[in-house]
Amino acid sequence: MPLLLNNPELLRSQHFIGGTWRAAHSGASFAVADPASGQDFTAVADGDAADARAASDAAHTALEPWRQTSARDRARLLKRWHALILANTDDLAKLICREQGKPLAEARGEVAYGATYVEWFAEEAVRAYGDVIPDQVRGKRMSVVREAVGVVAAITPWNFPLAMIARKIAPALAAGCTVVAKPAEDTPLTALALVWLAEQAGFPPGVINIVCASRTQTPAVVDDWLQDSRVRKITFTGSTPVGKHLARGSASTLKKLSLELGGNAPFIVFDDANLDAAVNGLMAAKFRNGGQTCVSPNRVYVQDSVYQAFADKLAARVAALKVGPGNADGVQIGPMINARAIEKISLHVQDALAHGARLLLGGSAVRNDLASGPFYYAPTILGDATTDMLLFKEETFGPVVPLFRFSSEEQAIQMANDTPFGLAAYFYAADAARIWRVSNHLESGIVGINEGALASEAAPFGGVKESGYGREGSRYGLDDYMHTKYLCQGGL
Ligand code: NAD
Repeated sequence: MPLLLNNPELLRSQHFIGGTWRAAHSGASFAVADPASGQDFTAVADGDAADARAASDAAHTALEPWRQTSARDRARLLKRWHALILANTDDLAKLICREQGKPLAEARGEVAYGATYVEWFAEEAVRAYGDVIPDQVRGKRMSVVREAVGVVAAITPWNFPLAMIARKIAPALAAGCTVVAKPAEDTPLTALALVWLAEQAGFPPGVINIVCASRTQTPAVVDDWLQDSRVRKITFTGSTPVGKHLARGSASTLKKLSLELGGNAPFIVFDDANLDAAVNGLMAAKFRNGGQTCVSPNRVYVQDSVYQAFADKLAARVAALKVGPGNADGVQIGPMINARAIEKISLHVQDALAHGARLLLGGSAVRNDLASGPFYYAPTILGDATTDMLLFKEETFGPVVPLFRFSSEEQAIQMANDTPFGLAAYFYAADAARIWRVSNHLESGIVGINEGALASEAAPFGGVKESGYGREGSRYGLDDYMHTKYLCQGGL
């Protein structure tokens, strides 16, 4: 089916470098697929090291003039970009739905959510204050200013094709950095549309550059930026192995890094919890984007005495979820992103069943009149999950809920922390003292307490342990794109 946009200009297929749209240096392109059908529907330029270098050259040239613009002027451009993103919500949502698969209503929500970061950092740009240190000795003035780190390379995943890139580019530009970006190979179109809107907003040439690359070509593009000493920061969201690769690759030029990596979020339901609220929270946190979010609950721990009641209430809600293509009426679970995703989900479910899990719901791929493509998986609940299962150790990144039992608060905390990851954690409880104890003990960058929807432009988003470091959003989010300079003036 052709992709009909109100503004066809938003459908881009070329790199944007130094203010011009251009084909790949090699002339190559790669296909973009619709996860709902599994069929390729368009193609975009496939970059290589030469394209990466052209982009970092442009970003480097644009850096000094951009850094010297006033914060107020940078904020004005960001506000214009924000308005254009919102004005093009319908088209951007269609692009997200087509290349990523999420339901159209969720895609619209992603546009609104991603845009809030652009607005937020427009507001933060003008408040990047420094300090004057009280006099320590006569005749000396000590002060602190915050400066842009320089050229930033942003590498983003496919699960939120608009929000992930917006929440990296917006703080970078607000701080006075210039950007080279590479979107995920599965979802380049939304990122290209977003950059086209930035061009319309009036950002100077070279301030934002974007290079697309296939899975094969991605290392050539990113390795060039890693080796380029003019690129002073890498900001990345994606898997932990790639994050570690980027950390190693940044070592030779000691770049600043923000790494938002994989999670393995625990979701704990204590015996004093409001079970209906806990089910609502789990439905919101788990099934957004079909379970393909890094803060998606991956291990659900339920206290013995409420285990059965919780499982029954949850099963009733999950059984009612409608699976199908994102653009069909009422669909809540779209297709998974690609064949690798389906393989991983199937492997986790089969492995759990082989290790004694009880299948309470789902447990297989879906093929019917509505969901006829190859990438649909049924919302699934597995009972009696245990720690020897793959889904305990790794993110499933799909619509699968494994239920683990626990008997005491200490055991729940121990099980929740028994992972190398620490991005998000959730728990439901009523007792105030318990809420403090559990919040303090969870090893996680983000904790949801009787709440399943956590992300906000006003809050710091990021992990601990092997979920990475750095924060996106909030006033802390600007710090990641700035360094601190101490000025010491004598002879006063
Ligand atoms: P990925 O880490 O492979 O891809 C993320 C980004 O890194 C993409 O832009 C990709 O092109 C790029 N990349 C891949 N290999 C690279 C390399 N060698 N050098 C430089 N860049 C490289 O993640 P994925 O394949 O999209 O998903 C795999 C797993 O990652 C998922 O199952 C999930 O666990 C995790 N993930 C996490 C998030 C998150 O939001 N934290 C998002 C997507 C995926």
